[in-house]
Amino acid sequence: VKAADLVERLTRWRDDFPTPGVRFADLTPVFADSEGFRAVVDCLAACAPDADLVAGIDARGFLLGAGVAATLGTGVLAVRKAGKLPPPVLRREYHLEYGTAALEIPADGVALRGRRVLLLDDVLATGGTLAAAAELFRQAGAEIVSAAVVLELEFLNGRAVQGDYPLASIVRI
Ligand code: IMP
Repeated sequence: VKAADLVERLTRWRDDFPTPGVRFADLTPVFADSEGFRAVVDCLAACAPDADLVAGIDARGFLLGAGVAATLGTGVLAVRKAGKLPPPVLRREYHLEYGTAALEIPADGVALRGRRVLLLDDVLATGGTLAAAAELFRQAGAEIVSAAVVLELEFLNGRAVQGDYPLASIVRI
């Protein structure tokens, strides 16, 4: 069975979560399914077989990042929400529907200059989160060889705010 079929079959949709008017895609059952997780991880890994580091965005991107890194034989880096990592950090703020948020990666301890990074998250919505994460790696001197998500909510046009890295998605809605 293809990854896309499993994602479509197992995703749990909820209206008015986390706020009224939003339709939330919960991929928990996809990741909890042995076939679903394997298929998704293999599909994402195929986006950048030549990556030398896999990065996952807080929090569901961590699950994907670990699985894909183990598949590719690379290390994994967690892109954290603000305040979780000890300093020094690189920090990037971005806009949410209401207010702002920030993402951070370590500014030392991991050699990032010249690295070839595959950047992962579960869902691409308005795209601000992924773009901010990618910008952190650019700041650190790394190259995003590809970004990839499981589910792209196309109507929110998140692709429009991305940099010039390839962006793959397993399912587009
Ligand atoms: P964006 O910055 O608007 O693209 O939002 C993407 C971030 O919010 C990702 O880290 C997603 O995990 C999360 N997100 C937004 N919408 C959904 C959804 O419908 N389901 C699951 N996560 C979502």
